[in-house]
Parts: sequence; structure tokens; C-alpha cells
Amino acid sequence: MARRGNLFILAAPSGAGKSSLISALLKDQPANMQVSVSHTTRAMRPGEENGVHYHFVDKAQFEALIAEDAFFEYAEVFGNYYGTSRITIEQTLDKGIDVFLDIDWQGARQVKALIPDAVGVYILPPSKAELERRLRGRGQDSDEVIAGRMAEAISEMSHYNEFDYVIVNEDFDAALADLEGIVKSQRNTLARQAEAYSDMLEDLLAQ
Ligand code: 5GP
Repeated sequence: MARRGNLFILAAPSGAGKSSLISALLKDQPANMQVSVSHTTRAMRPGEENGVHYHFVDKAQFEALIAEDAFFEYAEVFGNYYGTSRITIEQTLDKGIDVFLDIDWQGARQVKALIPDAVGVYILPPSKAELERRLRGRGQDSDEVIAGRMAEAISEMSHYNEFDYVIVNEDFDAALADLEGIVKSQRNTLARQAEAYSDMLEDLLAQ
């Protein structure tokens, strides 16, 4: 039987650098790693592509998918629905591919309840000042808009202690190395190795 893939949950406030870290982690498109593409009802942003960044659907379509039990988890984040397709996750894990979920704390809670051995990773910015600088760096937004984003970020960050690992993204390369280290460690846990090498272990331990 093929070894099942590992499930990683990556959460962070906006401005922590989560998307860039995930892109860097998967930049060589390794065959054994995949980011889950969520469904969302939010509007497409410039540069985004349907089916690549998200599956963009309207509210009625999303609610129909909820009714069909198509979501592994879903949540309302900043007034829009976001959800992870159940079938895609299950099929990908069954192929032995590690799946990375880029989701918020509400989704992370649901996934942990369903799959306790999913690995939760929380990415934090190094300080409030740096977070604000990164949020401002994105455009010409008013102080009021930035204050709103900061409040959302603080509320999201208050859930950091529900995760297994915490990465402080001060230096990007160091944070990426931390994330790679977590992925490698998870692949070598006793539970995963005992499953992957059951025949070899039986042979090694036979007297
Ligand atoms: P954005 O609209 O900036 O792409 O994402 C906003 C937030 O929604 C981010 O924290 C992102 O991780 C989260 N998110 C994206 N997809 C999902 C999903 O499928 N489920 C949940 N629960 N959150 C998601």
C-alpha cells in the first residue's frame, strides 16, 4: 500500500509572508508536495488566475457545495467564504503526496479535529512595527484601512498557540529553512517511518 501523504496546515496573519514562504517551498514543483487550491467567494485580485490561486465561485455555488458536504473545512474570513475541497485533499494524500493548506485559524481548528496528526504551523511577523510596515508596503491605503488590517491581523495572531510549530519570519531565508526543517522532521516521525518501512522493519527485527 502506498504511504499516505502528510497534511500541513499553514496559518498566519496577512503580512507575515505566508504566501511567499509557500511559493518558495514549492518553487521546484516537487512531485511529493502540493498546495491545496481553495474555493472562495471573494473577488479575484489582479494577477490571480482561476484554478491556480483559488477556484473563484459565487455565494450560491459555495452554499451548494456546503450542502453537498464537498468541503473538508470552510470558514467565513473577512466577509467571504473560503473552503478546502474534501475529495481533492483525500485523493492527493492517498497518492502519498504531502498537502499544504493555506488557511485561517478557523479552518485549522476544523482540520485538526478531523485529522489530529495534521501538522499545524503558525507564521508570525517579528514585531507589530514590521507587520504594519509590510501591510503598508502593499499599496497606497489610508491609515484607516491599515488600522483595520492591523486589527484583523492581531485577532488572527491570537490563535498562534493552537498550532504545533511557530515560525517567526524576520529573515525570509531563515524562515524558509525552518519550514523545510519542519516538513523533513514530520516525514521522519516514528509513526510515518514505521508505516513506510513496515516490511524492512519486520525483516530487520526478525531473530
Ligand atoms: P486572501 O483573501 O488574502 O487570499 O486570504 C484571506 C485568508 O483566508 C488567509 O488567512 C487565507 O489563509 C485564508 N484562507 C484561504 N483559503 C482558505 C480555506 O480554504 N479555508 C480557510 N478556512 N481559510 C482560507
